[in-house]
Amino acid sequence: MAETILEYLHEPYRYFGTATLQEIRTDDKGRSALVLDRTIFYPQGGGQACDLGRIEDDSFRFDVAAVTCVDGVVLHSGVGYSVMPAVGEPVTLRLNEQRRIFNSRLQSGGHLLLNAMRDAGQALVATKGYHFPDSPYLEFAGTVPESDRAALVEILQGHIDRLIGSDLPVIQQFLPYERLGEICRNVPPGVPRDRPIRVITIDGFSQPCGGTHVRSLSELTGMRIVRLKVKRRYLRVSYVIPDGNPSAST
Ligand SMILES: [Zn+2]
Repeated sequence: MAETILEYLHEPYRYFGTATLQEIRTDDKGRSALVLDRTIFYPQGGGQACDLGRIEDDSFRFDVAAVTCVDGVVLHSGVGYSVMPAVGEPVTLRLNEQRRIFNSRLQSGGHLLLNAMRDAGQALVATKGYHFPDSPYLEFAGTVPESDRAALVEILQGHIDRLIGSDLPVIQQFLPYERLGEICRNVPPGVPRDRPIRVITIDGFSQPCGGTHVRSLSELTGMRIVRLKVKRRYLRVSYVIPDGNPSAST
């Protein structure tokens, strides 16, 4: 089975698409799982929740309840209604647009926090990102003295407010693996070497990332740092972004 073409990497602001049904599988929860030649659905991974939505044609509807990626093949799991299309037939894809936009804002907020840490003079390397709506955070290897943490929250918030106020663009580009080291301060292990890698850059700070992002920082208006916590030599910085896109109409 060929790998699914990930259209959201190149066109993250498209919420409607078409594809060809390749296979109908059963996922590990016993649900039907559609395999398509291409998809606009983001599969859960990289600390970001999957897209939800609908796959349909004139005579059937499939409500997507989960999207996962297994060995490069994206599985759209869910429940189908009416007669399923045959392999080789075209289908249309519709994302839950509001969910995608919110997930993109949470994902981009993680990058903005990296910028704020850099601008605060913190050299700690991020080891984990969790960009789900319930309690998003970044985790860094290392600690900050307890006496400095309240001040750091204020400093980070100041940089975040300043950067959002500047409405800087969130730049996306593809680079070969060999060139990542030229512009990325930290290239995480596990980044594939056999294909161009998508790099996200905000204000000169670049990070390889396969998630979905906003166009510019004004879309992160309202982002707040809410907590610094140290656990077993890791610093966790938690943030919130209000739901609803403040500049969806622009
Ligand atoms: Zn990202």
